[in-house]
Amino acid sequence: MRGTDPVRILLVEDSELDAAWLMESLRRGGMQVEAHHVDNRDGVAAALAQRTFDIVLCDYSMPSLSPLEVTLLVQAHDPDLPLIVVTGTIGEESAVAVMHAGAADLVLKDRIARLRPAIERELAAATTRRQNRVIEQARQQSDMVLRGIAKNIPGIIFRRYMRTDGSLSYTYMQKELLADFIDTGDLGDPATSPLVMASGATLLRAIHPDDRKTYRDAMALSALTLEPMIVEFRLSTASGGTRWLRSQSQPEKLSDGSVQWDGIALDVTELKAAEAVRDHLAYFDPVTDLPNRAHFTRLLIETLSRPLKDRRVALLCLGLEAFADFQDGWGLAATDALVRAVADRLRQLLEPGEVLARFEGAYFCLLLPDAPADLDQRLWQLQAAFSLPFTVDGVQMSRRAHVGVSLYPADASDATEMLQHASTALHEVKPSRGPFRYYAAEMTERAVKRQWIQTELAAALTNDRITLYYQPLVHPVRHHIIGAEALVRWQHEVRGLIPPADFIPAAEQGGQIVELGYEVLRQALKQTALWRAAGLCDFPISVNVSGIQLMRPDFSVRVRALLDQTGQPPTALKLELTESTIIRDDDLVHRNITDLASLGVSFALDDFGMEHSVFSRLSELPIDTVKVDRFFISQMTKAAEHAALVQAIVAMSHAMHKQVVAEGVETQEELIYLRAYQCDALQGYLFSKPVPAAAMELLLRQGRLLG
Ligand code: C2E
Ligand code: CA
Ligand code: CA
Repeated sequence: MRGTDPVRILLVEDSELDAAWLMESLRRGGMQVEAHHVDNRDGVAAALAQRTFDIVLCDYSMPSLSPLEVTLLVQAHDPDLPLIVVTGTIGEESAVAVMHAGAADLVLKDRIARLRPAIERELAAATTRRQNRVIEQARQQSDMVLRGIAKNIPGIIFRRYMRTDGSLSYTYMQKELLADFIDTGDLGDPATSPLVMASGATLLRAIHPDDRKTYRDAMALSALTLEPMIVEFRLSTASGGTRWLRSQSQPEKLSDGSVQWDGIALDVTELKAAEAVRDHLAYFDPVTDLPNRAHFTRLLIETLSRPLKDRRVALLCLGLEAFADFQDGWGLAATDALVRAVADRLRQLLEPGEVLARFEGAYFCLLLPDAPADLDQRLWQLQAAFSLPFTVDGVQMSRRAHVGVSLYPADASDATEMLQHASTALHEVKPSRGPFRYYAAEMTERAVKRQWIQTELAAALTNDRITLYYQPLVHPVRHHIIGAEALVRWQHEVRGLIPPADFIPAAEQGGQIVELGYEVLRQALKQTALWRAAGLCDFPISVNVSGIQLMRPDFSVRVRALLDQTGQPPTALKLELTESTIIRDDDLVHRNITDLASLGVSFALDDFGMEHSVFSRLSELPIDTVKVDRFFISQMTKAAEHAALVQAIVAMSHAMHKQVVAEGVETQEELIYLRAYQCDALQGYLFSKPVPAAAMELLLRQGRLLG
């Protein structure tokens, strides 16, 4: 209680003697007391205001002050402060009045031994009252907090109770929230308590009919296993809408066999809507709102799993011509607009049951679950849809579609194969041979071969299976060697020597060309370093490079490093570029070329005349040599116009201060023509085929070649 602290007593007594006697008798009874003695009304008021007391003892018969007055004063000050009336004599009635006003007890002076236990009892009672008051305040507080939480959580806190007969009731459900879903007229009043009751039937009625079974099943399972019950269900609102609730509750089996769950049901309507958007995005392409690859693949698998009967399923892969270039040049917004326009045109052509999807870029897939007998007609119809130009950003542009087709069951045994084969067919479309291709087995052979080359080549690079042959370039009159071209060879363990035409295209497609290219450069520079040291060569070694290599931002840096490693000056190297490389509007390609040229590396344009013949580019770039393609040389002696063309190329190149090399010189006759045209160098079987380094070294020592 109060430990050893003295009991603080406010003693209201007119007689000094009596006061002293009272205190004395308490002390004698073993009680530690600290008394403050007053004898009038003001004294009482002042004492209460200024000091703290544990109890008030009040004499009953005072001339200026009635015990009733004192009782009221004390009550007003602190209803928990106990007051005991001490009296000599007292009548029944007045005692009742005083007790009524709030006095705790009444002790007769001739029974003074009773006073001490009375005080102790009252002090204990007051302490309990104070504690209860604190508890009650806390309860009210937490009730308010609960109400606040209940009001603010988007859901319902509940206790579900299932009797052994299966009947249900719910308590702890906030009426405010429930009112949205069910008629709460029969529920308690939320003003008196946030906790109300509802019968199970009332709530179950509010659950969406489609979700009632789910709800009941989840409940039955949870009651059986005593695992938490987690269920999502819809409640119909009074206004006719629905809200999604996610209810999670923990079951507890009571001793009588009934089950009670405490839980919370959250309103997840917004979340559900967000999930629906997310799910939509998982299945549909945001640009065109068409099914995406994943969704389409699922639908395709589903289609193939249905019995075929007499049907055949067709898969059309559609790509837009020159789309990659478009994307680079026009930016994202215009690209999306074009893709949407394409999607709209394709949508128009859909027959019931057919599925159109966008995979990526301008790559669409069309599934015909029941392909028409005359599929060609359908394909031409598709083409026709692309005969009108598209308008993007106010600009008209003509774009054709290429289509690859695969059929089930003829071409493929499952969805993956179908997709693969249609795509393979699409990649084999050559505009000169029509805008669509049906899949054919040999296409896969080609694709498989490409794949084989790509894997094997990576191994060849690490196993020193890449080697170089060299072919001399000779002076047209004196026939001495004035150059040499390095030509790559692949020495395969099983297949023997593989010529570059068989693997360079695959290496370019698979990206291995980059490492292969550096290996070729490294070997060529190492070899030329040996020949130079032996005084066998004073011309730059020619090395072929692919456009892919030049698109690497660090190409010039790495070539420079190779020159340093082999101790060769940049003038010891000549790089052969193709026309398709230099017509590319690619800043990286141009930067690599100009960087290396400024160092002193020289450049030749290979296979001139075969592709684009851009003389304008020739003057823009630091290219000092033009190599006329073997085709023109071989035609030169057969057709006058080709002879004229070669002559013109030589003349124009000379006018632009470029050297001209004739490739593939095979006959004496060709030699005579080229000499007459003042070609600067000749390369061809007439002088030498490409040969291994050792053989090339013999030629270099020999110096002059026949021809
Ligand atoms: P290219 O650069 O036009 O090389 C000349 C090709 O013509 C060589 O074929 C050569 O053997 C062949 N040739 C030379 N003289 C004659 C002739 O009188 N008659 C005939 N019929 N052919 C002749 P090769 O070595 O098979 O190379 C083919 C192509 O492969 C090269 O054509 C070049 O484009 C590419 N290539 C070769 N090595 C490399 C390389 O290291 N990197 C890259 N990116 N491409 C390379
Ligand atoms: Ca070449
Ligand atoms: Ca060539």
